[in-house]
Amino acid sequence: MSESFRAFLYLVSAVFFILALKGLSSAKTSMKGNMFGMFGMGIAVAIAFSIPQVSAYSLTVFGIIIGGLIGAFIAKKIEMTALPQLVAAFHSLVGLAAVLVAAGALNAPSAFGIDVIGCIMRGSLVEIGLGTAIGAITFTGSIVAFLKLQGIMGARPIILPNRHLINISLSGVILLSLLLFVLTKGHFFFWLLAATSFALGLLIILPVGGADMPVIVSMLNSYSGWAASGIGFTLNNTLLIITGALVGASGAILSYIMCKAMNRSIINVVLGGFGDAGASAGSSGGTQERRQVKQGSPEDAAFVMKNCSSLVVVPGYGMAVAQAQHALREMCSVLKSNGVKVRYAIHPVAGRMPGHMNVLLAEANIPYDDVFELEDINRDFPSTDVAYVIGANDVTNPAAKNDPQSPIYGMPILEVENAKTVFFVKRSMAAGYAGIENELFFRDNTMMLFGDAKKVTEEIVKALEG
Ligand code: NDP
Repeated sequence: MSESFRAFLYLVSAVFFILALKGLSSAKTSMKGNMFGMFGMGIAVAIAFSIPQVSAYSLTVFGIIIGGLIGAFIAKKIEMTALPQLVAAFHSLVGLAAVLVAAGALNAPSAFGIDVIGCIMRGSLVEIGLGTAIGAITFTGSIVAFLKLQGIMGARPIILPNRHLINISLSGVILLSLLLFVLTKGHFFFWLLAATSFALGLLIILPVGGADMPVIVSMLNSYSGWAASGIGFTLNNTLLIITGALVGASGAILSYIMCKAMNRSIINVVLGGFGDAGASAGSSGGTQERRQVKQGSPEDAAFVMKNCSSLVVVPGYGMAVAQAQHALREMCSVLKSNGVKVRYAIHPVAGRMPGHMNVLLAEANIPYDDVFELEDINRDFPSTDVAYVIGANDVTNPAAKNDPQSPIYGMPILEVENAKTVFFVKRSMAAGYAGIENELFFRDNTMMLFGDAKKVTEEIVKALEG
């Protein structure tokens, strides 16, 4: 295959990736987006076999089969609730790949076509150095994000003494070793750069906790894209440069949108320490634990719902855990057939990953037209009879508006308290992800429906039908 034809196919593949991103921006078109992405990747892999430097065909095919089998197994087995940590784990692989490719290029520059008479070109040294630094930070940062999201490591921030000083010093060493590596081509400086970047990735994510994790995951997504782009320069592969830049830019835009949704600055998130709920939860929770809540049964809820004219469902992480979306759709169908106006309100960080709730509702065939974003639904709560909060907690917590000490202060919330009656479906009085008490549980217009979200919803359906 000629060089120019390969470049043309790379362009076709890049267009498919752009179409994939466009498709994935809405639940309605996401299947099509996935198909575009798979097609683009198919072309990219096929082109790779025509590159003259690629000669170890059997090893490459072996790698594709092993990787494909692992991917297919994970896709079949993974729980929806475990997707964020899976994404973090995959990001770590991209970061590690960037470091390994850079190390390979440093040791065998002629295999990568980046040397002139055995000497690596200076531009390539800069690419290798930057790819290594970003890749190493992405690797260890993603590992910590994975451990925290998986619950292996506590979600609370780990605040080291003088951490800002340590981080600034490490950043200084990284810059210095990058400069010395480019000037001297010394392997020692390369490995110093890699080691300090690994350490910085670890130290940046350790102090991040609680409600900031979604932003961090999307920020690491962005880093992994830039790391892949860096590998693209080292490998002289235009498609990898384009794809890496697409992932890097879209991750950065998503981080920005999420920061806006939580009313936080990205610098603030990266500097960490947010979500240290211990103090806040302790200060507000002590007196509230002794307060009484109004507890109801699924039959009580069914009675109120049957006689209401509008209902807004607020799904959260607990709905995903209970896999209650199908029961929820059934409940809403019954209510709709009784003339109740039913809508769904989605908070941008409800659940444990961006779009988590949209995916689950789509899986249960809930009509897209009934699903509303926070800014579109909030003004309707005062005229809503019933808010059915199913497994959501932090995203409704008014502490985000009223308590400057709260770790979620500044995050826009779904203002369910303005509805005439609020049902909270959850198993206990336990806090949500940010670890803080929700004062709404104690309000006069709130009724707690304790139990598993799926079971409670199924019992409501039974009571409605009975
Ligand atoms: P929360 O984590 O605030 O609350 C979920 C609630 O669900 C808990 O209070 C829990 O209470 C309840 N629950 C758990 N299992 C069940 C079950 N089987 N049946 C019924 N209830 C159940 O969830 P939200 O969706 O309101 O908020 C998301 C939080 O996660 C935010 O703080 C967000 O910042 C954070 N986050 C979001 C990410 C994202 O990208 N969307 C990623 C990472 C974190 P109980 O134990 O009493 O049942």
